[in-house]
Amino acid sequence: MTKSKLVTAHTGDIPRHNPCAQCGTPIAQPDWIEPGEGRISYLWTCHACNYRFEAVAIYAHEIVEHPPLAA
Ligand SMILES: [Zn+2]
Repeated sequence: MTKSKLVTAHTGDIPRHNPCAQCGTPIAQPDWIEPGEGRISYLWTCHACNYRFEAVAIYAHEIVEHPPLAA
């Protein structure tokens, strides 16, 4: 578990090959990513059946946790 750093999720934590919620076809990457507070929403579109669904990733720690200045 060393893959999460202090960066926002759209740089390295994008889920891939998420199975379609309707037909199960793996989708290479989400169509849309919307970062929120402590969670990120991913919008997936299945190209096999045109089904669209949203998956939300909840993070245990808030994204903005780094101190303002650590002099
Ligand atoms: Zn599908």
